[in-house]
Amino acid sequence: MNSLATARTDLANWIGGQPRPATGGATIGNIDPATGETIGTIPASGTADVDAAVDAATGAFDAWASLDGEARCDMLMKLAGAVEADLDAFARAESLDSGKPISVARTIDIPRAVRNLRFFATAAAQFASESHDVPGSMLGYTLRRPKGVIGAISPWNLPLYLLTWKIAPALAAGCTVVAKPSELTPTTASMLAEKAARVLPPGVLNIVHGYGEPAGASIVQHSGIAAVTFTGSTKVGRWIGKSCGESLKPCSLELGGKNAFVVFDDADIEKASATAIRAAFSNQGQICLCGSRVLVQASVYDKVVAALVEGAKNLKPGDPFEGDTRFGALVSHDHRDKVAGYVERAVGDGARVLAGGSRPESLPDRVKHGAFYLPTVLDNVRQDCQIIQEEVFGPACTVQKFETEEEAIALANDTPYGLAASVWTRDLARAHRASAALQAGIIWVNCWMLRDLRTPFGGVKQSGVGREGGWEAMRFFTEPKSVTINMGE
Ligand code: NAD
Repeated sequence: MNSLATARTDLANWIGGQPRPATGGATIGNIDPATGETIGTIPASGTADVDAAVDAATGAFDAWASLDGEARCDMLMKLAGAVEADLDAFARAESLDSGKPISVARTIDIPRAVRNLRFFATAAAQFASESHDVPGSMLGYTLRRPKGVIGAISPWNLPLYLLTWKIAPALAAGCTVVAKPSELTPTTASMLAEKAARVLPPGVLNIVHGYGEPAGASIVQHSGIAAVTFTGSTKVGRWIGKSCGESLKPCSLELGGKNAFVVFDDADIEKASATAIRAAFSNQGQICLCGSRVLVQASVYDKVVAALVEGAKNLKPGDPFEGDTRFGALVSHDHRDKVAGYVERAVGDGARVLAGGSRPESLPDRVKHGAFYLPTVLDNVRQDCQIIQEEVFGPACTVQKFETEEEAIALANDTPYGLAASVWTRDLARAHRASAALQAGIIWVNCWMLRDLRTPFGGVKQSGVGREGGWEAMRFFTEPKSVTINMGE
């Protein structure tokens, strides 16, 4: 059993391959949201800590960048193996920090983090650039060099999964990294850094803990940071985009979502309904890709809504540490209250609660003070309501009825966000038409969250700027340089 996940844990920053407290020794309490208990502390880092991390990453850059891709591939494979060998300890820590069921951390979060590391390890060995040949006239080729020290800032909902989604391609491309995990879910980042200290050269991966302000902001604004990769809220993403714009620093922004899940009457209704439940409530509805707006064609509306309501009622909140719990706590009591506030205001706007709409009445004794909220389904919602237009990022989904394909597309597109959409139909032409018409960076047809790590990942409108995944990420972390040779007279 892992001591990190069972005993009180005081985490350190990892700078230059060494654990270090914050300069001045300030700390932040780390709270288990399932119980409300403080389970340890993290360093409350500031500018001096970020300076030290950027210095370490800068010092490590030349040697790391000049390794050949296969050498970086070998080391990242070793790091993946080290995380996998300790999968259970990582899963316990992830569950403890976030309130998510340990079964989910074991089968989704940590395996996916391992897969990210392996996937981009192979990218390090296979990445190549283009050449452009005009016979007898010129030969051009593109050099792609690692950008430098990358600032990586990640959220709390899929802590190690999203941190490795950034760190792995940056390291694979030959960059060194200063990363800040969310202050709400810090533990697995420290565990990763501890493993990395045994397989990567010192300074290649540095972890700085702390609040967004000052730790995250100091990373964004540091002149030694060549580019920023950020996943988090649209509000913070906007500030980061503005700050990077001022210094002309490239940034990749993966932000919020308000994703439509569109069910046409010719779909496999049983499969669509079962997936809608998963899309709405996986990870307690705290995934940027969650299908939080379910749109259903009129003739099958009652059937889909009945299945959704039954599914929501069957998802019983439980102790995240029990192996059979499928629905855990929200990430914090503040966040639970925020979700409850959205539901209350929706009801005030005329919405009807079909399932949930409150905290659970009874919970196992160990977690009776935890940040739980019932899976909630609301109908009778107007398109201009806050609950339709804003991201709740919790277990509250809405259902809306439509008559025609045009109406479905119009409703789906009528929010400020554009991350993902899921379309359910057996009509091939309609699937293609809807995929083209929906304003989102990611479209799923007759599925949800089916992910191939090679495909571009990211959103349009207020859901972000840029794409991650596959070669898109490798391109973001490298700077192209065009070389042209005169091959003529
Ligand atoms: P958040 O924006 O509050 O915080 C994200 C990270 O940014 C944290 O590490 C935080 O400490 C840091 N931060 C906060 N202020 C900062 C600042 N001024 N400068 C630099 N860093 C700062 O988001 P959150 O509440 O942790 O996560 C939930 C949000 O993340 C949701 O909006 C969700 O949709 C989004 N998200 C998006 C994706 C995606 O791929 N598009 C994936 C997961 C989560």
